[in-house]
Amino acid sequence: MLEIRALGGSGEDSRNCFLVRWDDGSILLDCGVRREIAAVEVVYPLLTEEIAKNLNAVFLSHAHEDHTAALPYLYHLGYGGKVYATEETISLTPGFLRKWHDYAQANKEIIPFDEEDINKVHFEKITDAPSYLISRGRSGHMLGSQWYLFSIAGKRILYTGDITFDGLLMAADELPECDILIIDCAYASKFINQKNSYEKLAEIALNTLSNGGNLLLPVPANGRGIDMYLYLKKQGLNILVDAAVIRNTVDLRRQTEWVKESDLWSDCEDVVTVTGKEPVRPEVPSVIIVPDGMMTTAKAQGYYELLRNDSKSRIVITGHSARGTLADSIQIEDYRKENNILAGVEKLTIKVHPDEHDVVDLVRMTKPEKVMLFHAKEKNCTELKKKLREKGKEVSCSIRNTIKYD
Ligand SMILES: [Zn+2]
Ligand SMILES: [Zn+2]
Repeated sequence: MLEIRALGGSGEDSRNCFLVRWDDGSILLDCGVRREIAAVEVVYPLLTEEIAKNLNAVFLSHAHEDHTAALPYLYHLGYGGKVYATEETISLTPGFLRKWHDYAQANKEIIPFDEEDINKVHFEKITDAPSYLISRGRSGHMLGSQWYLFSIAGKRILYTGDITFDGLLMAADELPECDILIIDCAYASKFINQKNSYEKLAEIALNTLSNGGNLLLPVPANGRGIDMYLYLKKQGLNILVDAAVIRNTVDLRRQTEWVKESDLWSDCEDVVTVTGKEPVRPEVPSVIIVPDGMMTTAKAQGYYELLRNDSKSRIVITGHSARGTLADSIQIEDYRKENNILAGVEKLTIKVHPDEHDVVDLVRMTKPEKVMLFHAKEKNCTELKKKLREKGKEVSCSIRNTIKYD
């Protein structure tokens, strides 16, 4: 018997968590939350005490909260085992767990675990993982992110985690063939040309600055935030950047086993203006890079307040923003009108996941018989499902579906 069930994440855009059960055991792949103010059963994966107590191991693909922040809840339900991840993910994850806890608390969210449960999480280096993990590789999504290939009950199960081969800086390893593929399709129904996106970004920046405005870029302090920072710096634009982004850039440059060679690195340690504690309008028109793509931090909101009444300035949102966050709200025209926001607001996706073309390509290359799509709402996967089924694949795309072998 082999069964793969999404406890969250398939047919949805977050709280990624997949249960693999077979005759002799069960494991969990990721254990994330949905960043939304909502009921526990909507925010957290559909875990039970029975599942938690019987698990043999947990494997993390990377540190982002939509893959990790429900770990304390899992321990609260009675899990007592290990959480396997790369050294980099192990060092980054506690920060994400803490950040989620504080966010939930600040929003008077119900937290279904105690603060001490955060410290119960028992991380273990992936190099000591059980032998049914047969292969793993870099997934190009962020520092420490990996895909995993397991051999369980006679089947090869490939879990991509969040994956991209289009990052400017992060290296990724080719995916192996498998029988069952659990694949990131966060940009299902979208077709994004990364080169065009970066060119468009440079064009927006140049136009905004030469018109005397400032361009506000709320980005994660890691991942695409670093790519965008170095790319824009290369264009010779004035940049005001958060110290955390610079620190992470310098740190990342040293991670030679994780990054690609790129001429962008040559600019990495130059002097740029760093944002201070209090937001101050730059003396010359600049690109302002602040951490937190969803604009939930005081710093991002401070710069927003500074620029919102300036019709020459622009704010560009380049990633996913959860419902109700400032980055999400300001993209809605009615919200901008009601709140008298004069700065321009645009959405321009910088790819950190596969788009629909990429998913079809990756399925072709890995040759699975069964595919579980995750990280996208079911309604966005209609065409993709059709394409894969036409190629003879059995496709699952809902937390109600289970991949099963007797
Ligand atoms: Zn991620
Ligand atoms: Zn994710």
